[in-house]
Amino acid sequence: MRFLRALFGAGAPPADEAIHLYVRCARCGTIVHVRVDPRNELLLEFDDGGMPAGYRLVKEVMDARCFRLMRAELVYDRSRRERERSIAGGAFATREEYERQQGAATPRSGA
Ligand SMILES: [Zn+2]
Repeated sequence: MRFLRALFGAGAPPADEAIHLYVRCARCGTIVHVRVDPRNELLLEFDDGGMPAGYRLVKEVMDARCFRLMRAELVYDRSRRERERSIAGGAFATREEYERQQGAATPRSGA
């Protein structure tokens, strides 16, 4: 992945911090965990002057129960701090809510 880092150049965000999204389907309530690789999925945006303004992430998510498509959109500043997030077709959930759902649906063995 060295070449990708080279493409981003100096001042690039840390390369190996995955972004974890948890979204709840508005129809069936299933919470889906999505792991986003920022190296591949963050889009660099530029301001009117042509300077890097920040990053945008657009992620389409489908739950495994009713297969409804949700569309999450997150905006980050140049330091990759989250500025805003929105989602169509669902709602953002927390990791705790997701893990609670996992525990209720499929008891894990050997954990
Ligand atoms: Zn659903």
